[in-house]
Amino acid sequence: MILMQDSDCIFCKIIQKKAFAAILYEDEDIVAFMDIKPINEGHALIVPKKHAVLVEELDEELYLKLFPIARKIASRIKERIPETTAINYFIADGKDAGQEVFHVHLHVIPRRPDDGFRFIFDKEYYSRLLSEVDREKVKEKLLS
Ligand code: AMP
Ligand code: ZN
Repeated sequence: MILMQDSDCIFCKIIQKKAFAAILYEDEDIVAFMDIKPINEGHALIVPKKHAVLVEELDEELYLKLFPIARKIASRIKERIPETTAINYFIADGKDAGQEVFHVHLHVIPRRPDDGFRFIFDKEYYSRLLSEVDREKVKEKLLS
């Protein structure tokens, strides 16, 4: 299969076997490997082989393949690394969402109690509840 790859992209280099990765799973379309800087032991990345920056650039058929593989890997992590009590599935889809490697990847992040990983919000966030009217307004904006 001929794949469109980006020569400056570290994940494309891994896919082309020009850079090292500890590969957990591979098929024609997807590769999964261990994160170089894991939040906890077992942290894995599920990556489509075709280079694309954002989820919306992937064909539906391809992006639908990511989650089933992630789920299987999550089960394996829980089985083999029993300190794992929960999982975060996470995609940073764009720079302002925290994306640092600009090739789509789904994180499977094993979690354990008090592991120090936090989503941080401004104080103001905690007092922000949208009224029913405001929620309806946003819904209409999305549907109109
Ligand atoms: P994100 O912020 O979602 O773009 O996360 C990029 C992830 O890729 C981070 O968790 C990095 O630790 C990981 N990463 C970067 N380079 C490599 C690499 N060469 N091998 C494995 N994981 C990597
Ligand atoms: Zn790439």
